[in-house]
Amino acid sequence: MSRITDVRTIRTRADGGWTLVKVETDQPGLYGIGSASDYFNPGAVAAVVEQLYAPQLRGRDAGDVEEIWQTLYASGYWRNGAATNTALGGIDVALWDIKGKEAGLPVHQLLGGRTRAAVPCYAHAAGHTLDDLVEDVRRYVDEGWPVIRCQQGAYGGGGFLDRTAGRAPHRLDAPAVVFDDEAYLRSTPAMFERLRAEFGPQVKLSHDVHEHLAPQNAVILARSLDPYRLFFLEDVLPPEQLHWYRNLRQASSTPQAVGELFVNPHEWQPLIQERLIDFVRTRVSKIGGITPARKLAAFAEAYGVRTAWQEGGDNDPVNLAAAFHLDMAVWNFGIQEENHFTDAEAEVFPGCPRVDRGYLYPSDRPGLGVDLDEPKAAALLGGAAEGYHRPYGIDRRADGTAVRP
Ligand code: MG
Repeated sequence: MSRITDVRTIRTRADGGWTLVKVETDQPGLYGIGSASDYFNPGAVAAVVEQLYAPQLRGRDAGDVEEIWQTLYASGYWRNGAATNTALGGIDVALWDIKGKEAGLPVHQLLGGRTRAAVPCYAHAAGHTLDDLVEDVRRYVDEGWPVIRCQQGAYGGGGFLDRTAGRAPHRLDAPAVVFDDEAYLRSTPAMFERLRAEFGPQVKLSHDVHEHLAPQNAVILARSLDPYRLFFLEDVLPPEQLHWYRNLRQASSTPQAVGELFVNPHEWQPLIQERLIDFVRTRVSKIGGITPARKLAAFAEAYGVRTAWQEGGDNDPVNLAAAFHLDMAVWNFGIQEENHFTDAEAEVFPGCPRVDRGYLYPSDRPGLGVDLDEPKAAALLGGAAEGYHRPYGIDRRADGTAVRP
């Protein structure tokens, strides 16, 4: 048995965007690392860890993972907030890391063992022109990636228009480049027409809408993409419009993936239970860690829904490791979003997961298999945590209205 002696948050990355949780015990050298990164609101998550949760944890048995999860979950009375569930996720993943180290087993062995030889990931291909995108997709095809996500530039790409082009100066106080649903509805099927012409039917392709569209236009887009047989269409609707999946399901056969903005089980439960989606794409740390994620996966298995844990740019190596262990053990795994790290970042995290030609491979290291070098974490951070403030960049429509991401 190991007793928790301290719980701390540790910020790192050159831009200050990563927050890790370290849970220390009374056993020599035994500690766990968890991910509680929130790129846009790190201070709030750190405050929840250090002010609300840490005082409740000191002196408790680190092995009581479920008991600790349940009691912390309700300990703020109000629950399922983004900051509280992210803080809870950081602690939960650290406790699974400790449990694995105590058992001398990698976490996926504690979750039931291997159900696959390695974890297939999907790549992020992008290009501002279709020719550039084709070249980027070709690079990933040649490397052997199992699935390739295709975007025309940034999220909403193909839907941006220069509203000032060829027009007289206008007093309207809106950006020159604005998002337009109709432009997106035209350009996105045209993108897949070109990609299928270049690569044929065998290559597995997906696309991320990032919730830019009005709901009925989301239905129109999904139906227009049916001929191109996507692996999945991601986040075609925002969390505020989930009821529209019922209309969308009637209109389109394109597989649907959603969930990176979800933190509350009441968001995904109806979608899964009514079989309205095909892939659930929550971020492991955002929903409260491995403990709720393994239950979500089991719930989804009963309804034929597969997992596709969210990763990508602002995620840290510890969250990827947590997702990886679930990917290895969960039978109804679908695909893992890729993430990659610079050499300087990987040095901060000994054992950092690395994708090799589209696959993540297991190791026999106990626990998560990834560590945190604190002096290197501090060196990488520099002064980036001071005055950190980075709100999400909001796109706008032609009249200046904010587009929800
Ligand atoms: Mg996405």
